[in-house]
Amino acid sequence: MAAPQAVRGTRDLIGEEQRRHQHVVDTARRIAAIYGFDEWVTPIIEPTAVFARSLGDTSDVVTKEMYSFEDRGGEWITLRPEGTAGVCRALVGNGLTQSLPQKVFYAGPMFRYERPQKGRYRQFHQIGLELIGPSEPLADAEVIACGWAVLQALGVSDATVLELNTLGDKPSRDAYRAALIGYFSEHREQLSPDSQARLDRNPLRILDSKDEGDRRLVGSAPTIGPYLTESAAIFYRDLQAHLHRLAVPFRENPRIVRGLDYYGHTAFEFVTNALGSQGTVMGGGRYDGLVEEMGGPSTPAVGWAAGIERLAMLLPQAPAAPVGIAVIPVGESTESAGLEVLQALRGAGLRAEMSYRGNLKRRLERANRIGARAAVILGETEIAAGIANVKDLTSGTQTEVPLSGLVAHFS
Ligand code: ATP
Ligand code: MG
Repeated sequence: MAAPQAVRGTRDLIGEEQRRHQHVVDTARRIAAIYGFDEWVTPIIEPTAVFARSLGDTSDVVTKEMYSFEDRGGEWITLRPEGTAGVCRALVGNGLTQSLPQKVFYAGPMFRYERPQKGRYRQFHQIGLELIGPSEPLADAEVIACGWAVLQALGVSDATVLELNTLGDKPSRDAYRAALIGYFSEHREQLSPDSQARLDRNPLRILDSKDEGDRRLVGSAPTIGPYLTESAAIFYRDLQAHLHRLAVPFRENPRIVRGLDYYGHTAFEFVTNALGSQGTVMGGGRYDGLVEEMGGPSTPAVGWAAGIERLAMLLPQAPAAPVGIAVIPVGESTESAGLEVLQALRGAGLRAEMSYRGNLKRRLERANRIGARAAVILGETEIAAGIANVKDLTSGTQTEVPLSGLVAHFS
């Protein structure tokens, strides 16, 4: 039988890749906690309606990318393509809409049926934040500042730029939508088939198109600025003032609309040019209508999600492999003494290993191969004298250490 292959667009995380991945999650979790966010873990599978309803029926995710299936009980289930809808479903389902604000951090796998390429996979992973409850622009600014702090803590902030936009309130968007329809209708036949469909249903989405021809047209499309209501303009101005105060640098980009339909007011992306065309590492914005879509009361909210794979690729250096101590019994009779030493070291929180067979030379080779920092060599005479030979595998020097002092020696 031919060896089974991993599913197209999925990857195994092993060794350095796993350490990079874990470092991104650990760092984000630590920074999010400092900013007052608590971690939620929601299911990877949700009823299909959770996404079909919330992401909007013109989003790429819903129209082309979802992994959906009918389960054995006849329920339509979807592997989550993003985290926000599930968090809002959980907020409503757990009766938390009366306990606001909720400040949520999450991390985990997401699934989208996309054409796999560097930085784009079918199973990928995200970290994300949701701040549910506040409608003030200071909430948007704090959520963005936390994202910026994560990028700084990862050492990737020099390689990324925050691009900021506003989608205004509903009256602003309605007026802007009419202007976009006017503009794109004049060029309808130059639009991609996808964008022709968007023109009728949600013309803002054309601004997010990746099609080359569409992008040329988008370049001269109207921007939202002139269509903002006074209060939407004030919201955007306040957000910018807060970002200045929080020392978060940004540049305005009127083309940022975000891929999903549920955004209003704030829309932003952290982009890099260090990853080729998969340049967006973090994206988010304000989604005041989503909780209501999930059957809850009208509830303002703002958040972001970031691709862990893209952040992991940007890390300036890979986290170091863990180093431990190799315990090497010389001859079978010393093995039980070896086990005692092994457990004593582990009991003190030290990483320690003992290989199962081989002479001193072979076991020393293995200790070097696994990157051990030291070897504890236990011969019969040494054990009888209550000592061990400790070999520093970096310097090569060997010292005698009393068995009772081994833990202290390494701590
Ligand atoms: P893109 O424009 O690259 O398709 P998106 O707008 O679809 O991104 P979001 O839904 O905003 O992405 O997801 C937030 C982040 O998750 C993205 O900025 C990116 O870093 C990451 N991401 C999205 N889709 C994938 C994927 N298929 N593989 C790897 N990372 C992804
Ligand atoms: Mg996408």
